[in-house]
Amino acid sequence: MPKEITVLGIPFKNTTLEKASSFVVDSVKNGKKGYICTPNPEMLLESQRNSTFKNVLKHSLLNVPDGIGILWAATHIYNKSGKIKAFLTLPLVILYPAYFKKVLQERVTGADLMQTICKKIAKESINCFFLGAAPGVAKKAADILEKKYPGLAINGTHSGSPDDKEMDEIINMIDKSEADILFVAYGAPAQELWISKVINRLKTVKIAIGIGGTLDFISGTKVRSPKWMQKIGLEWLYRLIQEPSRWRRIYNATIKFPIRIISSLDAPSS
Ligand code: UDP
Repeated sequence: MPKEITVLGIPFKNTTLEKASSFVVDSVKNGKKGYICTPNPEMLLESQRNSTFKNVLKHSLLNVPDGIGILWAATHIYNKSGKIKAFLTLPLVILYPAYFKKVLQERVTGADLMQTICKKIAKESINCFFLGAAPGVAKKAADILEKKYPGLAINGTHSGSPDDKEMDEIINMIDKSEADILFVAYGAPAQELWISKVINRLKTVKIAIGIGGTLDFISGTKVRSPKWMQKIGLEWLYRLIQEPSRWRRIYNATIKFPIRIISSLDAPSS
C-alpha cells in the first residue's frame, strides 16, 4: 500500500479513522500547529477551478478521503488503470466498496473524525471550540457530546460567519476560550479558506478542522443516513432525498468527478 496518493493534485495520506484521530491528539500534545482537511469529490472539483482553495488543501497537515469516490479514483490512479477499467468498476462503488480499500484503506468522514477526536480528548487535558452552523446548533451539539463523552471540555461555541468583518471578534472569542482544537462548520470551501486565513493568528489553537454539516447531524437538526447506506457509499442519495436543493453538488460528486478522473487516466504524464 502506498503511504500517500495524489488525486487531482491533492495529496491523501493512507490512514484510518483511528490513526487520523490519534494524529490530531498527538499533534496537539506536541504543539504542532496547522489544519486537517477532509476532501470529498466535490471539494476536489472545486479545487480545480479555485487555485486558492487548491493551495489550502495542499498545505494541510493531513488530508483524509471523505468519500468512496476518492478511494475509487486512488485505486485507478495507483494501479495506472485504463479508462475502460475505471469506468467498468464504477458499479462496484455501491456493490462491493471493499474492492477500493486496497490502495487507500478507509473512507474517513469529517463527522466520524470529529466525534472520534472528541471521544479521545475527553480523557486528556485537551479542549475544543465549535464554530459555525445556525444559531444554537453548536451549543446543542456541544451539550450532547459532553453528555456522551464525560470529561470532554468544549470551551466555547459560536454560530458566527466566515465573513471577514467578523474575523477579529471571532479570533478574540476563541483565544479567550483557550481552545486547543477548533472545529469549523461553515461548509466547504468557506471553512477551509477561513481556517487557512486565521490559523496563525489564533493564540492557543493548535489544530483546526472543517467539519461541514457535522454539528447539524449531532444536534439532530439534520438526520445522517443509516450506517448501511454510509457503508455502501450511498450517503449522498439519502442527503439528496432530505435536501433536493443539493442536487448540483451530488451531480458533481457522482457524475462530473468520475468523468474528470476517467479522462485523466491514460493521459500523457503531466
Ligand atoms: N454554515 C454557516 N455559515 C455559513 C454557511 C454555512 O454556519 O455562512 C453552516 C451550515 O449551517 C451547516 C454547515 O455550515 O451547518 C455546512 O453544512 P453542509 O451540509 O453544506 O456541509 P457538508 O457536510 O456538505 O460539507
